[in-house]
Amino acid sequence: MIHAGVQPDPTTGAIMTPIYQTSTYVQAAPGDHKGYEYSRTHNPTRTALQDALAAIENGTNALCFGSGMAATDAAVKLLLPGDEVIVSDDLYGGTYRIFTKIFANYGIEFKFVPMQDAATVQNHVTSRTKMIWVETPTNPLLNIVDIAAVAKIAKAANALLVVDNTFASPYLQTPLDLGADIVLHSATKYLSGHSDVVLGALIVKEGQLHERLAFIQNSCGAVPGPQDCFLVLRGIKTLHLRMERHCENGAKIAHWLKTQAKVDKVLWCGFEEHPNHAIAAKQMRGFGGMISFTQKGDNVADALKILKNTKLFSLAESLGGVESLIGHPATMTHASIPAEERAARGLSDSLIRLSVGVEDVDDLIEDLRQAML
Ligand SMILES: *Cc1c(COP(=O)(O)O)cnc(C)c1O
Repeated sequence: MIHAGVQPDPTTGAIMTPIYQTSTYVQAAPGDHKGYEYSRTHNPTRTALQDALAAIENGTNALCFGSGMAATDAAVKLLLPGDEVIVSDDLYGGTYRIFTKIFANYGIEFKFVPMQDAATVQNHVTSRTKMIWVETPTNPLLNIVDIAAVAKIAKAANALLVVDNTFASPYLQTPLDLGADIVLHSATKYLSGHSDVVLGALIVKEGQLHERLAFIQNSCGAVPGPQDCFLVLRGIKTLHLRMERHCENGAKIAHWLKTQAKVDKVLWCGFEEHPNHAIAAKQMRGFGGMISFTQKGDNVADALKILKNTKLFSLAESLGGVESLIGHPATMTHASIPAEERAARGLSDSLIRLSVGVEDVDDLIEDLRQAML
């Protein structure tokens, strides 16, 4: 995490990768340059970040984008009209939106399928299936999808497997090792870790796919600026420390919530009774700091009271930062999914989602306790 992809600056020895705030690069003669011609195509700060991401995801190459959604946009542009994508049905609201409201208009078909039992995926494969899209753990229901099992189905179908690894981070899960073809990140979340940047990435383990995606990145141009790349590079240097603490605090809060009289369901993949706990234990190196819960009576008003009363947990969209956040998927991150769809997927309107930060855990528990009174 600390050394991946970065080297002291060759001109000055600066230990931190400089922010190369430049659009162009001077050539000695036409075509005689140092590997950099124009910053949409390449920028040295972006190169360092891309190399770091490739290393920590056990890939060969990474490509960075202006946001997680821009990375999603680039990945889907590998497809053509008539192609089909099988998508895990519990997923980030913005991903659902770009699939159904943007790419569906271009003749690409998306089938949203529950994937807790990976064998189900096989039933939806057709000769037109070109991509399988998995989020695990899922947002916000914390379902787990067996990446290795879905990878086998994708391989047999000659379809690309994309895994959105935003929730786990490469510290807890490396999907390329389990057979995925492309890993996607909203680096906005755990990778940067400080809620100060929006950035996305795709990581691959094979040169041809990298070339196709690099062509899309350069042609469509949704690249991040060098300052944002620098911020994510700096965030990655403490990813391992932060994730250890997110996991430790997450476990304590999940267990505490379960003992509370008013709490009904606690969704966290570290519980042994979680339906796919065994798969989580197999494919992840820890269970993370994302927890969702409902209260008895499933009353929206009770949920809104907690959301209003916490002091350390800030009411905000996003996740993965050092500070704890609390959110209400039905009105916030998942409002772009129609109410009937949400209900069908078991996303109740009283569900609260926590992104447990790295504060003192006793302070966090005390905050939740007083908010629930
Ligand atoms: C936030 C998020 C995205 C989108 O990333 P942005 O950086 O906000 O564009 C995609 N997937 C997941 C799981 C996310 O949490």
